[in-house]
Amino acid sequence: MTDHDLARHEMVEEQLIPRGISAPRVLQAMKTVPRHRFVEKGDENLAYTDQPLPIGYHQTISQPYIVALMTEALDLKPADTVLEIGTGSGYQAAVLAEIAHQVYTIEKVEPLLHRAQTILAELGYDNVASKFYNGTLGWPEKAPFDAILVTAGSPEIPPPLLNQLKDGGRMVVPVGEQTFQELIKVTRSRDGIRKEKLGGCRFVPLLGAHGW
Ligand code: SAH
Repeated sequence: MTDHDLARHEMVEEQLIPRGISAPRVLQAMKTVPRHRFVEKGDENLAYTDQPLPIGYHQTISQPYIVALMTEALDLKPADTVLEIGTGSGYQAAVLAEIAHQVYTIEKVEPLLHRAQTILAELGYDNVASKFYNGTLGWPEKAPFDAILVTAGSPEIPPPLLNQLKDGGRMVVPVGEQTFQELIKVTRSRDGIRKEKLGGCRFVPLLGAHGW
């Protein structure tokens, strides 16, 4: 094991399991994805610490626990197709890609998208497709999705995303103020929409139509 492998296993044992993350697929994905490849050069030794980190362009790679919590809440199955809004570093997309069949991810900062695309390709995540776009409008050509994950804070649940969720589909989205949000899980069924609150969180703002 390398130092990074060791730090990653400790991250799972010390930050995720004690806080209640228990889904075996999620723990396995968090043990597998090399988070140190997705942080900024020079920050590799901080990659497995219990915090978000800057990735440039005023954006951040989320805290490992939040990545695990959101991934677990999506209840992913191996055949699922997932849409992520806010590619950022690409780390969350890689975690989703470890579990789901296909991941689509959208980013509105082009240099971040290119950096993420490069790393995901180097690591062999060929089940991740990505594009430069306003993610609040979703990816209609690839819809409907089994799961949708929004990784930026939104003033509302973007209606186009709800429309792109399958019956039985799950969406996790931070909703609230620009500096503080509640993580909401939305489950869509034939009878309508069910919402659950998963706790407080702090994401960078979702920008564009239906965002800020
Ligand atoms: N999931 C990322 C962290 C995302 S930070 C990771 O694992 O690293 C939030 C990201 O959402 C930022 O990169 C920001 O540029 C992007 N973003 C904000 N509003 C967006 C929008 N409307 N469409 C697409 N991306 C958006």
